[in-house]
Amino acid sequence: MILYRLRCSKGHEFESWFKDSKTYERQEKKSLIGCAVCGDSHVARAIMSPRIGKVGDKVEPEAPPPAAPAPSPEQQKVAALARHMPKELREALLKARAEVEKNCEHVGDKFAEEARKIHYGESDKRGIYGETTDEEAVALAEEGIEFGRLPWIPRGN
Ligand SMILES: [Zn+2]
Repeated sequence: MILYRLRCSKGHEFESWFKDSKTYERQEKKSLIGCAVCGDSHVARAIMSPRIGKVGDKVEPEAPPPAAPAPSPEQQKVAALARHMPKELREALLKARAEVEKNCEHVGDKFAEEARKIHYGESDKRGIYGETTDEEAVALAEEGIEFGRLPWIPRGN
């Protein structure tokens, strides 16, 4: 048995079973096949649209790689400041930076958290450096935690 999808001259589509393709051709020639909808005997095999891939198997365009984080307004300000400050001041700041980097532990954006731990004896007393927000800096000062702020100017030009 073979299943054919057929279409009549009015465009109705229907499916019909035949013993084999020869049987279909014979019946089609003799107009023995009637449309299941309107009875029209002018039928022809409909072309089955091939299905490629699975439903929902869409190819997603690849996401662009994440861009490098832009420097924060604060960093841009400091960089601009560094470009316009006197050479001596810049060198002093760079020296201070090198000194801090040599003697202190970098704690990144956990500066406020770590400074508190040291202040309250939860962490070993040591020099640390990192980044913090203005709000955190104010809070640390109010808690009597000693720290200094240094314009972290970029190295080189
Ligand atoms: Zn029809």
